[in-house]
Order: sequence, then structure tokens, then C-alpha cells
Amino acid sequence: MKRLRIVSLAVTLLFLFVSRVAVSHDNHTSSATYLGNAAILVQDESTKLLFDPFFHKDFGIYQLVPKDISHAIFQGTPPYNNINFVFISHAHDDHFSAIDLLNYLKHHSQVQLVAPKQAIVQLMALSEFSENEKSLMPRLHTVPLGYGDMAWSKTISNTHISAVRIPHAGWPSRAGVENLVFRVTLNDGVTVMHMGDADPNDDHYLPYKTHWRQQVTDTAFPPYWFFFSAEGRDILDDIINAKQYIGVHVPVEVPKRLISSKKLFFSKPSQTKKIHQH
Ligand SMILES: [Zn+2]
Ligand SMILES: [Zn+2]
Repeated sequence: MKRLRIVSLAVTLLFLFVSRVAVSHDNHTSSATYLGNAAILVQDESTKLLFDPFFHKDFGIYQLVPKDISHAIFQGTPPYNNINFVFISHAHDDHFSAIDLLNYLKHHSQVQLVAPKQAIVQLMALSEFSENEKSLMPRLHTVPLGYGDMAWSKTISNTHISAVRIPHAGWPSRAGVENLVFRVTLNDGVTVMHMGDADPNDDHYLPYKTHWRQQVTDTAFPPYWFFFSAEGRDILDDIINAKQYIGVHVPVEVPKRLISSKKLFFSKPSQTKKIHQH
């Protein structure tokens, strides 16, 4: 009898242990914080990513990253400490500033950069780049995608990154812009997708069926204009394999149509949302 009790106690303890492990594994603290325009901080327990964080152009319409936030990013004050990656979707002035990026990388020597060739070329053309070349070169990851190329992928310190080149909005007028749609799986398994200024035409997405199918995205960040066309909504709902999406690149004066669409979107810097659903 006594032995049975010990066994049952052991089983109970084992069960408690296993369920605790399951709970702690399930208890994601992953979130996305809005910085401005298409700039986002994505974080889980062990990894932090910044998308399109440095830019100065708002075209009189879009949200700049407020001074206090950009100061905190440069200083590395929480939550902007221990950033692992900076991603650049494309080298337009409302997403990218080469000089800011260089200054940031110089002072944060643990940060890896993943960016299209057009952004890397601008970065390397800065005179200060050559002075810091030794520290910078190993941390630059160029995504060399031409239009129509197969998906690119790379795993860097347990973070799985892939990208496809999707034309810039306004296609075919800005066909030369290397706009990347990134899909990133963080250490604890949460996957996000940043779409830059992607064009909402399904012809661009259908050739990458296998790529979308390979990996479920927990949260995608499309530019808000995707919500305004049936084709855009169809891409989000039926093609890219995302469970949830949060619109970005939202004008400071939020369009009424966006509010009434009932879609999730970011419009106020520091807004934070969960990126993982159970
Ligand atoms: Zn653009
Ligand atoms: Zn833009």
C-alpha cells in the first residue's frame, strides 16, 4: 500500500512538473511594439528585432518615430536593449536612413543587419563605413533578390529568416525598388512577417505558394492599403498563411475607412500587441 502511495505521489509530481513545463513553454511573452510608419519592435523572451526603425521622411502624412523613442533605440534603453537584428524592407526615405543605421550599428556591436542590396550599397558608400569596416562587414547580411527570384533564406543564431522580393506598391511603376517581404521565426517559435511597401496584387504572391505554405506566420504586418481592396484582403486571408495581421504605414490622420474596416492596425507609437495566439 505504502509503495503504491509513493508511486502515485511520484506520478503526481511528474505530472505537475510536466504541466509546468508545458505552461511555461506556452506562456509566450512575444509582442510587437509600434514605433512609427512601418517601424516595429518585435520581441520574445530571447530575441528582439527592429524592422525599418530609422527614417526621416513622413511626406507630411505618415508617422515619424518620436524623438524619445528614437533616442531610447540609440541609447539601447529598455525595451530597446539587447537588439539582435535590424531588418530593412527597402531603401526609401520613409523606411530607411543609411547614416542613422551606420551610427546605430557602430554603437551596438551585437546587432546583425538584414537588408536588400540597395540599402547595403547606400550604407557602404558612406565615408565612415570604411573606418568601421572590420566590425561591420561580418554583421551585414545582404538579400540579393531580383524580381521573380526564388525565396532567400538564412538561419542566424537560431533565428530563421526568409525573404521574397515583392514589388513596391504602384507596380509596375516602381519595379526597380528592391522591396522585401521578410518572414522571421524567433527562437521560441513565433513567426512574424513584415511586408514593407508591398503591392497588393495577387500575381506577385501566387508564384510563391510553396514558400507561404512552408511556414505559418503568427502575425503579419502589411501596409494598411491591403485592407482596402478585395485582392489585398484575399492575399492576407488566403495566400500568405498568416493567422493574424496588423496594418502599419498608417497616416497620422487615420482614414475613416480604416477605422470602420475593424481590422487591427497600429497608428500610435508605443502601442503594443500580442503576436501569438493560442
Ligand atoms: Zn517605399
Ligand atoms: Zn513607405
